[in-house]
Amino acid sequence: MNNIAKSTCAECHHIFPRTEMQQITVKENAGTSFGVSQGRNGKNRRYSGRTYTRNRKVWMCNSCAAKHKGKESSAIFFFAAVLIIVIIMAI
Ligand SMILES: [Zn+2]
Repeated sequence: MNNIAKSTCAECHHIFPRTEMQQITVKENAGTSFGVSQGRNGKNRRYSGRTYTRNRKVWMCNSCAAKHKGKESSAIFFFAAVLIIVIIMAI
């Protein structure tokens, strides 16, 4: 008898028992909207664009989850580095 639920890893697409998996929240791009709003007399034209992201929960095996987390923290590190350079340049 084996009652352990299994899921497909969202990253490597292999099937693992859920005891060897983690549920990861991933941000996915849900689309981009571009809008041009025009004021009276054609003046004050405003462009607005924004991207929509939504959070999705997926199952990942432990090794893919670790890789995914590594990717996220390196993105934060890169952002912090850029921020520090901008601050130094401003002074
Ligand atoms: Zn995997």
